[in-house]
Amino acid sequence: MRVKLVSLFPAEFISLLQAEGISTWRARQILRWFYSRSVFDPQEMSDIPKTLRAELMERFDFTLLEVIDRVGSRDKSVKFVLRTPDVSIIEMVVIPDGKKNTLCISSQVGCPHRCAFCATGSLPFRRNLQTGEINGQILLAASYLQPHKLTNLVFMGMGEPLDNLDNVLRTLQIIQSDDALSFSPRRTTISTCGIVPAIRTLADSGIKTKLAVSLNSAIDAVRDRLMPINRRYPLRELKDAIDYFRRKTSYRVTIEYIMIPGINMDDQNIRALRRFAGDLSVKINLIPFNPVAHQTWRTPSASEVAAFQTRLLDLKCAVILRKSRGTDIAGACGQLAGQLQQT
Ligand code: SF4
Repeated sequence: MRVKLVSLFPAEFISLLQAEGISTWRARQILRWFYSRSVFDPQEMSDIPKTLRAELMERFDFTLLEVIDRVGSRDKSVKFVLRTPDVSIIEMVVIPDGKKNTLCISSQVGCPHRCAFCATGSLPFRRNLQTGEINGQILLAASYLQPHKLTNLVFMGMGEPLDNLDNVLRTLQIIQSDDALSFSPRRTTISTCGIVPAIRTLADSGIKTKLAVSLNSAIDAVRDRLMPINRRYPLRELKDAIDYFRRKTSYRVTIEYIMIPGINMDDQNIRALRRFAGDLSVKINLIPFNPVAHQTWRTPSASEVAAFQTRLLDLKCAVILRKSRGTDIAGACGQLAGQLQQT
């Protein structure tokens, strides 16, 4: 079977080509086509001899993931529907914003956590994505954005990245390598529903990345209902893990709070959020709920959002209202469901 190059560390990539009799200099040239120029078809590697191009095609697998649909939003974000070799469907979203180009990436096929506000959570969980399937999304996005650069990466697509920590960390190590994308750790964020032991493992791993925690209520009974993971790792333990991550890595954790009228925006929830975040060194991102097919909840009005935010502004931490992007293509936070566009 041909080895899939997108799964390899740059050093492994080069060694593999060397083992097939290709010189180090030539192997590095091929690696540069792959990572710096986003060219994944050896036939297009114009400074490689034609005979070698044909051999490369025969001996190595240069493919990423199959793009089966691409849907553009009015706000310029683009959702890609992708097929893996075992015919699983996943989605990723590219979000341009001025000079910043963010990729929202998936880490699993489906998700086992069943958060009540999330379309992915209503799907059956199938499996973790492999390193090559995660890196493949990144390289597809980098290629789509050319001549502009992919600047930010957020693991906020389908799945819980901390359940697939080995493949996520291996991918981060690949893209952070100077021989690949030299991607800055400050520009990657892993978002978790709150897998407490894995937050500590990530902090101890030595691999740098920012962390976001999807909180959505600082009252255990409410969070139990919104996010069943809270029954396993309640708020007290989650808060300790957030504090641990901050102390071990020096990165401030982002608390994500999806605002849902009638569920987590009342006085009691505001007071609880203030108590939870008040003595932590965190940043709070407020996100208006985005509609999903399996819920009847509504999006909060602009005045409800402003009133909620105002009650938090005197906290020490930054409280930022996040714009929802890609709602018209079901590509916004919580909406990814691995579906083809209905035409
Ligand atoms: S919010 Fe994240 S952890 Fe929760 S169901 Fe959705 S994808 Fe899974």
